[in-house]
Order: sequence, then C-alpha cells, then structure tokens
Amino acid sequence: MKVDGACHCGTIRYEAEVEAEKVAVCHCTDCQTMSGSAFRVVVRTLPGSFRLLAGRPKVYVKTAESGRQREQAFCADCGTPVYAAPVGPEPRDLVLRVGTLRQRDVLMPTLQLWARSSQGWIADLANIPAQDTQQVFAEDGRIRP
Ligand SMILES: [Zn+2]
Ligand SMILES: [Zn+2]
Repeated sequence: MKVDGACHCGTIRYEAEVEAEKVAVCHCTDCQTMSGSAFRVVVRTLPGSFRLLAGRPKVYVKTAESGRQREQAFCADCGTPVYAAPVGPEPRDLVLRVGTLRQRDVLMPTLQLWARSSQGWIADLANIPAQDTQQVFAEDGRIRP
C-alpha cells in the first residue's frame, strides 16, 4: 500500500510502500520513552520504497539491550519521530511511525509486540471515561470546571 506522511511542522515529508496487513503496536519501554506515550504504532516499509520528499531528519542511534543498534529518525524542528532503520547501506526496510501517516485511519494493528512491558491500564482503555475533544483551558492554564 502506498502511503505518505509528514512531521507535525511539515519540514519533513515522505512517501513509501508498506505492508498494510503488518501494522504492529509496540509496547517496549524504548517506544514508551521515545514516543512519550504508552505504546507506539509502527509499520514496515518495502525495502527501497521510502522516499524523502522534503527535509532531512536528525538521526539518533539507539543501542538496544541486545546490543543491536538502530537509527531513530526524527524532525529536529518539531521532534516528531518519523522512522527507525537498521544502521547500514540502502536499501533498508524502515519502520515508519504510523501516527505520521496520512493513511493512519486505515492502518489497523494486527499484532502487539513486547506485551510483557505494556501498561496495565491498556486492556481497560474502553472503560476509561472519554470525551470528544479535550478539556477547556482557562487563560491561567487551569482546566475550566
Ligand atoms: Zn517537523
Ligand atoms: Zn518498541
């Protein structure tokens, strides 16, 4: 499936082909830290299909517990994580951050990774009270009652 995406500020734009049936949720603690969230949604690109249309991401090389190194690419201006990739020559199979893709609504996860470090409340998410938008903030930054 052909996809395209951008970081939040729009400096980095890209397109790629992904295996749409292989979208995964990753609950590993590195994904929790680097997404600033409880988990990350990712999808693998077909090798060589990733094409930068604008901008150039900054790369942070992460060393995993296993000793394996992976490039973590993000926008240096707005901080949006864009992809991870093995260190090495092209063509590489990148793993895109699904939240940056315009087609994210149709990319449904089919697998969860690192379930052993998933946050305990996730299984109960449907039972946590929900509102359609966020709270209204007053000018002093407090949430209006
Ligand atoms: Zn950006
Ligand atoms: Zn992860």
